[in-house]
Amino acid sequence: MNWVTIVWSLAAGACLTLAVMHSLIWLRDRTLYAHLAFAFAAIGTVGVAFCELLTMFETDPKAYLAILRWAHLPTLSILLGLAYFVRLYFQTGWLLLFYLAVGTRLGMVVVNFQSPGNISFLEIQTLKSTTLWGQSIHVIDRAIQNPWQALLLVNVILFLVYFIQASLALWKRKDRESRRRSGVVGGSLVLFLLLAAGHSSLINRQLIESPFLITFSFMAILAAMAYQLSRDVVDAARLARDLNESQEQMTLAASAAKLALWRWDVPQNDIWVMPAGRSMYGVSAHEKVSIERFLETVHPEDRDAVRQSLQETMAGKETFDHDYRIILSQGQIRWITAKGKMEFAADGSALSLRGVSKDVTDRFQAEERSRLVVEAAPYAMIMVNDSSKMVMVNQQTERTFGYTRAELIGHSLEILMPERFRAAHGELQSTFHQSPTARMMGEGRELSGLRKDGVEIPIEVGLTPIVTTEGRFVLASVSDISERKRLEIEARNQRDELTHLSRVSSLGLLSGSLAHEINQPLGIILANAQAAQRMLRSESPDLPELRDILDDIVGEDLRAGEAIKRLRALLKRGQTQLLPVNLNEIVKDILRLTQSDLIRQGVSVSMDLDPTLPATSGDYVQLQQVVLNLILNACDAMAENPEKARPLHLSTQHLNGSVRLSVQDHGCGLPVDLEERIFQPFFTTKEQGLGIGLSISRSIIAAHHGQLWAERNPDHGTTFHLELRVDSPQNT
Ligand code: ADP
Repeated sequence: MNWVTIVWSLAAGACLTLAVMHSLIWLRDRTLYAHLAFAFAAIGTVGVAFCELLTMFETDPKAYLAILRWAHLPTLSILLGLAYFVRLYFQTGWLLLFYLAVGTRLGMVVVNFQSPGNISFLEIQTLKSTTLWGQSIHVIDRAIQNPWQALLLVNVILFLVYFIQASLALWKRKDRESRRRSGVVGGSLVLFLLLAAGHSSLINRQLIESPFLITFSFMAILAAMAYQLSRDVVDAARLARDLNESQEQMTLAASAAKLALWRWDVPQNDIWVMPAGRSMYGVSAHEKVSIERFLETVHPEDRDAVRQSLQETMAGKETFDHDYRIILSQGQIRWITAKGKMEFAADGSALSLRGVSKDVTDRFQAEERSRLVVEAAPYAMIMVNDSSKMVMVNQQTERTFGYTRAELIGHSLEILMPERFRAAHGELQSTFHQSPTARMMGEGRELSGLRKDGVEIPIEVGLTPIVTTEGRFVLASVSDISERKRLEIEARNQRDELTHLSRVSSLGLLSGSLAHEINQPLGIILANAQAAQRMLRSESPDLPELRDILDDIVGEDLRAGEAIKRLRALLKRGQTQLLPVNLNEIVKDILRLTQSDLIRQGVSVSMDLDPTLPATSGDYVQLQQVVLNLILNACDAMAENPEKARPLHLSTQHLNGSVRLSVQDHGCGLPVDLEERIFQPFFTTKEQGLGIGLSISRSIIAAHHGQLWAERNPDHGTTFHLELRVDSPQNT
């Protein structure tokens, strides 16, 4: 072995290694044509190195000429490889120049093989011996040049111009990577091609005597290219790592958010879905998923809608946004919300749909629960937006107002109000929006709703403001209170009935008084009438006396009439009538009615009535009933007292803003520890008692917004106090 053989063999070996490496890269990924082009150039360099080595040790000029001819084939491989590499790697350069350079080279090879010697020499006459690194080698001594040789120069110039133009175009892109490529690859290409071509053409023109050394120029070019390609490999590896990392992060984020990413390759009808998504849809890990397989997982009731939505997306709608149910293998139903975006090819055909799915079963179930709660509510629930339009109603709304949901949604709330309330509604609404807090509507006023059939119904309305991302709403809960109103009226009627009964029963106790009230005037009328008859039988009747008698009769008759009138008023079953009344009058009236009974029972009445007592608003008959009840109870309480020890004291007082009547007796006193129970219905300590007098009296006074209570006297007996406000509010 000599140095020349060693160096050229090493060069050829290095190029061969590079060629094999890049061929393998290309074989693994057939899209990387730049590596294939590189491999071509490297293989060509191996061939050129081999030819150069052969010429150096060749002694026969003819064989020398033949080797040079064949050397054009690996050179062609190099140049085609380099040109193609530049096209692929720079993605720029004039195509025309590329074809021109490649074309002339091919033509040149043809000329080379057609020529008697080769394209450079027609004949090599003698070789000359010389030394390189201490080794004897041969170089051309005398030769006849081929005129076609000029074509070689033209072709090299074409390649050079193509490389320079492509490199400059890449350089102009300004980004670092383009400039590096242009500098490293383009620069070395131009420099070393110039060197190789220059040196060769000096030999061809026999201006120098030297062996061909183009191997090393091309090796330098290959080194620059390999450096750049290896950088790309490193960058690609880094990119792959980054991509991997970001994909991992995305997968992590997706799984944290319980999202499944997917991609539907439309032409291939193949769906890629990340592993979490496969389990979400109940699809096994390796099963191929087509669109039909996906639709199989969808609930039959939702399938058509999903299919339709997919078709619309493919037809150009671009976005896919759908909520649907899927059925898992155990029959379990899950709610899924899916969103995707379609990519289209240049001809408008659907390419791929990428998107995400999320299992929203929990949210749907929660929504369903609240929907059911709203639907099951026993009152009408109506959600109204800012402009008073109904946006949600429940089933009870339909029942209460007789409209269907479709007839209500989107319509103004005013259709549910009687005409007379509509004008005020706008005002009420703006007041509500000024201080939106939950409250009852129109407090203290009776509200009415209007049914579809035109019937008005009494209602109660609760208002709750709701602020959502969609804006401000008001939730009105409307109760139909017709039934409650009916029951209230019924209860009031029953109470009135009971009150009346109790009054009648009290009056029953006054039989003595009542008989007296009627009998006394009747007796007087009778006596007077008899006296008048007697007088008329005399021959000269005393006419003035007769007139007096008749006046008496009329007077007594009026008295009896008055008594009957008062009785009739008490016995009448009437409705509550609020009029100005004076407690003094009531007391006097009742005492007149009870006078005879009180006398019969030996009760001595004393009175201390405030003459300045103002009137109060009340029902005359009902208040009479209360006073009567208190007086009768007082008499009962003193029934066991010795005669002449039955004092009953009645007094009225004007207190600050109210009037008070006190009924004081010296009776047995209130039953021990049962002071409050005496006001309960049916509590009685009397054998014949009903136990309803005081409870009715208290409810009458409560309805007058007054108070009725009892106190033990310090010595004997009890005092009942009745207090009413002078500026009595409206009674019910
Ligand atoms: P009744 O008179 O039919 O018993 P009330 O409701 O009028 O029904 O009275 C209930 C009870 O209150 C009486 O049974 C009695 O025990 C007690 N009570 C009422 N008034 C007096 C009074 N002035 N003194 C003592 N106890 C009284």
